[in-house]
Amino acid sequence: MSTTGSRVEVVTIGDELLLGFTIDTNAAHLARALAAIGMHIVRRTTVGDGADEIADAVGQALDRTGAVITTGGLGPTSDDLTKQSIATIFGRGMHLDAEHLAWMEERWRKRFDRPLPASNHQQAMIPDGARTLENHHGSAPGIWLDDERGRWVAMLPGVPREMRGMLGDTLLPLLRERVAAERVVRSLTLRTVGVGESLLADRIDAMEGGPLGVTLAYLPSIAGVDLRLTIRDVPAAEADARLAAAAARLRARVGGAIYGEDDADLAAVVLDLCRARGLTIGVAESCTGGLLGARLTAISGSSDVVCGGVIAYHNDLKRGLLGVDAAAFERHGAVSEQVVAQMAAGARRAARSSIGLAITGVAGPTGGTVEKPVGTVWIAADVDGHVETKLLRLWGDRDEIRQRSAQWTLDLLRQRLA
Ligand code: AMP
Ligand code: MG
Repeated sequence: MSTTGSRVEVVTIGDELLLGFTIDTNAAHLARALAAIGMHIVRRTTVGDGADEIADAVGQALDRTGAVITTGGLGPTSDDLTKQSIATIFGRGMHLDAEHLAWMEERWRKRFDRPLPASNHQQAMIPDGARTLENHHGSAPGIWLDDERGRWVAMLPGVPREMRGMLGDTLLPLLRERVAAERVVRSLTLRTVGVGESLLADRIDAMEGGPLGVTLAYLPSIAGVDLRLTIRDVPAAEADARLAAAAARLRARVGGAIYGEDDADLAAVVLDLCRARGLTIGVAESCTGGLLGARLTAISGSSDVVCGGVIAYHNDLKRGLLGVDAAAFERHGAVSEQVVAQMAAGARRAARSSIGLAITGVAGPTGGTVEKPVGTVWIAADVDGHVETKLLRLWGDRDEIRQRSAQWTLDLLRQRLA
């Protein structure tokens, strides 16, 4: 599934960070925590404690991205200027938050049994129109400030323990809601093989239950036809739900043809099916000259399923290595059901595998006849001695016919095992 994400900038504030006395662990922690809820940091800036530096850095970040998280400079001392600087950018004054002051006074009485120091009053000053973010781990409240254009800054304390606490308790839940409400473009691809584009479209168009509620694109390629479902401009959670619902209806309708989602590879799907059942594969290939073996062995970890195979291009090899009998060639020709079935059985014997796959066909552009035109391909899957064959009438150039032959043979086995 693909998606667009919510972008945010981080500004960490403190002379000690620039001097290298303190390592900026806040930025790293924020990056991981935000990524986990689907937001990504597009830029990180560190500035000293000066009011102008803070206003510059946050102002530029707001112009670029419109969403900023700061840490540091919320303490009770004269070098803690974050709130004031950012209020200035938004053109806001400051006022005393009586509720927060009362909470701090109560906290000091309970914890330390003495009155709140005068310098802490500064921590209860907040920009006009801001909301406070509760701090269960210290006395400085975090601040959330936004404007009518939807730009916002969240100010968190610098002390890492307080920053992490407030992030987890208060800010992340708030951001998670915003991400979920954000309008996104998402798509999901269902990969099909074995059914042509127009036949698929006929079946899907005739589907009951009203419109899918997503846009549907048919994307044909050598691998098959991909069905790409896209939904635009709805909240992320709704997008996921509607894509899942549409995918479920398509699966119910054309599920047999669907082998995977997004960038699934049919060879990997087949290997997983075999592995789950403890089955092994040997191949015998004529017109594909090893393409099927290449598809299977391209998948890392395939050796526990794939034993090997034979490129039996000339009939002598089909006879000698695979045991196809001479009469089959004489009566039916090399591109025939009888020959492909014996090739599959021969592959299974030669590889000592539980499954034998075989392909023989006319890949062109020469070699076609009226009876067996270019694109005539017989494929077979022998599973534990039970052979299933299939006649393909493929289209395209030599390369396309060969690629499709390998893909459809993989699918023949997938259908057997599914
Ligand atoms: P402040 O809230 O700016 O007064 O910061 C309080 C203390 O938190 C500083 O003295 C640092 O030790 C620590 N601190 C501030 N910012 C960071 C940061 N970005 N990463 C790690 N520690 C920090
Ligand atoms: Mg500081």
